[in-house]
Amino acid sequence: MNTRPRHHDVLVIGGGQAGLAAGFYLRRHAIDFTILDAGHTPGGQWPHSWDSLRLFSPAQFSSLPGWPMPPVAGYPDAAHVVDYLTRYEHRYQLPIHRSTRVAAVRRDDDGFLVDTSSGPWTARIVVSATGTWWRPFLPALARGSAYAGAQLHTAEYRKPQDFTGQRVTVVGGGNSGAQIAADLTGHAAEVRWCTLRPPRFLPDDVDGRILFQLANRRYRALQAGQPTPAGIGELGDIVAVEAVRAARDGGHRTAWPMFTSLGTDGPRWADGSAWACDAVVWATGFRPALAHLAPLKLSREHGHPVTDGTRSVDEPRLHLLGYGDWTGPASATLIGVGPAARTMATQIAATLDQ
Ligand code: FAD
Repeated sequence: MNTRPRHHDVLVIGGGQAGLAAGFYLRRHAIDFTILDAGHTPGGQWPHSWDSLRLFSPAQFSSLPGWPMPPVAGYPDAAHVVDYLTRYEHRYQLPIHRSTRVAAVRRDDDGFLVDTSSGPWTARIVVSATGTWWRPFLPALARGSAYAGAQLHTAEYRKPQDFTGQRVTVVGGGNSGAQIAADLTGHAAEVRWCTLRPPRFLPDDVDGRILFQLANRRYRALQAGQPTPAGIGELGDIVAVEAVRAARDGGHRTAWPMFTSLGTDGPRWADGSAWACDAVVWATGFRPALAHLAPLKLSREHGHPVTDGTRSVDEPRLHLLGYGDWTGPASATLIGVGPAARTMATQIAATLDQ
């Protein structure tokens, strides 16, 4: 393997939607950059999701900068997103090195030394856009249990046919939990959907685009030191996509309170009741996948590195993009990552000019 580092002014780590949005704006500024992506094929997390996943916004509200997502009836599925992202990177001829996993980002004289599975790279500026899919979160209940049945996280769930005739517990009151519980209905013998608090369903005519507007309004209020406005919902409230609606209309939408322990055969509740089941699906969310930044020893707040917008406060030549509201309002969504990427690219251009 050639061990002489390859150099670019900017290295973007991650070739999902956030990496592509970064590439779109870096190209506009005529910046020398390349994208390193661990994936073997385009699409970031989307090719790995369960088969029936539906976006929580229509196509026209799920677009990256420049080229809108082609319209489709109803809510797009994951295959539609993969196709869109594949065509997006070709359309803008974004330079992406696939099958290249970044193991570590270290400070170097003039920027960063980036260790990857395809050799070392150097850069003056690094953009981390690695998403969350590769760091599924499991609560302590799951980690410490002696449960003898199957346990899997959303990231491993693929299709309801894998659970035909089984009794399945689904944990998690967000969109993933609601969609997977609905998906299993009619295939599993019985589904118990358990949530920490009663699930919050949005009205049928409200979807992710409203939630996006609300996230922006809240962010602006926060920046201006004003109280955050109350709204109809929050990112994370459940959008009534078709399968969720069908489950609800069929009377299958009732959620159980969260159980307090997981015995060898299934959940046990505080009132002493228990349920024997074959599998538990944990739809309990994700955390930013940032292990490659460990050598930088960034200080943390609320469990993630401290940033001002996308820029790391400890290391101004490092940007973090697409992980959540802390890297820009709704920046962990298709429509929300563009504005954050645009501001970031302007800052990067200014830094490179210094
Ligand atoms: P990813 O898509 O995860 O891409 C990250 C890329 O980085 C991957 O290609 C990965 O291979 C690569 N990578 C990771 N680590 C490394 C490394 N060390 N070195 C090199 N490459 C690396 N958003 C919406 O707008 N609408 C929705 O309806 C919606 N539904 C969602 C449903 C689910 C179940 C989840 C989990 C999220 C959903 N989101 C939705 C949120 C968001 O749009 C997705 O999480 C999106 O995939 C985030 O894009 P990303 O580019 O930040 O990360």
